[in-house]
Amino acid sequence: MSSQLGKTYALIEMKRATHTTVQISRLQAKLSRQVKHLSIRLGLWLIVLLCACSAPSASDPIDQADQQALSDVAGADSQGPAPLRVQRIKLGEHSTDATGKSPKVVFDLPADVTAIVVHVDGPDEFHYTLAALTRDAGFAMIPQAWLDQTSLPDACVGPCQNRIVAQRGYAAFLFPNTPLIELRPGLHQIRVYAFDDARKPVATQVEIGVDFVRSTEVSTTLKLPMNLCFTGAKGWNAVNSVDQQRLQQAIDFAQTILSAANIEFGPIRRFDVDPQGQYIATQKPVDSDLAKLFESGAGLPKAINVFFTDRIIAAGAPPGANVALGVAGGIPGPPNEVGHIRAGVALSLHIPQGQPDLLGVTLVHEVSHYLGLFHSSEPGPNGAHDTLVDTAEDDPKNLMYWSLSEQSLQLSHEQIQVLRRSPWLVAP
Ligand SMILES: [Zn+2]
Repeated sequence: MSSQLGKTYALIEMKRATHTTVQISRLQAKLSRQVKHLSIRLGLWLIVLLCACSAPSASDPIDQADQQALSDVAGADSQGPAPLRVQRIKLGEHSTDATGKSPKVVFDLPADVTAIVVHVDGPDEFHYTLAALTRDAGFAMIPQAWLDQTSLPDACVGPCQNRIVAQRGYAAFLFPNTPLIELRPGLHQIRVYAFDDARKPVATQVEIGVDFVRSTEVSTTLKLPMNLCFTGAKGWNAVNSVDQQRLQQAIDFAQTILSAANIEFGPIRRFDVDPQGQYIATQKPVDSDLAKLFESGAGLPKAINVFFTDRIIAAGAPPGANVALGVAGGIPGPPNEVGHIRAGVALSLHIPQGQPDLLGVTLVHEVSHYLGLFHSSEPGPNGAHDTLVDTAEDDPKNLMYWSLSEQSLQLSHEQIQVLRRSPWLVAP
């Protein structure tokens, strides 16, 4: 069981936490411990990137040059009927320069928006992250100094209470993904950072956008549309899969766990896709099997594409430990996109000898990554813990624990809050 944060795809794992009331102070203690254990781990399953840490720095106030840009500020349309749950704001195409950074791009956050997903779309050979996300009043959700303190832009874990992970080709970033960050209305500035496989900054062109998400009462059931995509692995296809008891049990299992968040799969549709996607290796970053598999979902109805494969081989893993249960295209994955190289979740139907069938728990774990949840705990004594206040450290019972088991069943209250912010979810 595994998962990768960072330059390749987000790989597997799982959890649900009890609703223990944990104080913020405890979380901060955890965070400070993590800061002490700055380390970079390039794991087989897992690439955990702990960034050099320091106190987040305040943002610049909006300067003169920005004032001009404000005339073009994208903002929510405040007229008309009740606003939609999700509203996409296009911030246009921007260039990064030799420093890898784009100019500041400004948007105005409406008062009724409780979460945002910033997305960056660029050439597939480069990786994208945020150099900064700051509010006019000076608060930094992504401190602009963080890149100056690290040679590893793959993930901002220490300096960013709201963690972000760079992604290739298309990167998405959910705010807030922790109760330590609060959205407030008003002008915000984004600066994007682009880099190559050698982690050198690159000048390129990117499209930047923001999805505004308005909160929905927890009592409201949110629907999660899902496309089941069959590669021919195990002989399953769009027709005969209806009779596959193993598949139905996995979906039922996943649905039961998501019920705690009042999230319901639906509609669930079935499709046959490129049979070359049966055996997936994640080594090659560009044109990888996984990228091709996800691209084979182009043209399907807008929904989370879940691909069933025979085997997933994780990059960098030692022999014998390199078979992954599943992979998610991002944390979060590209919202409301199909057919993109990162658009989807891939699951292995292979059951290692002597192991239990973890298809159901893997399905819901990877979907939860795709909606925006990080692992509750990463492996090892110094493994990073999430920035939620109510997930226990090293708790294998949590759905988002790095190593999946049949006991990885629990979602904490805060994890549920994060899940329900996803733009993928549809309100009645
Ligand atoms: Zn995972």
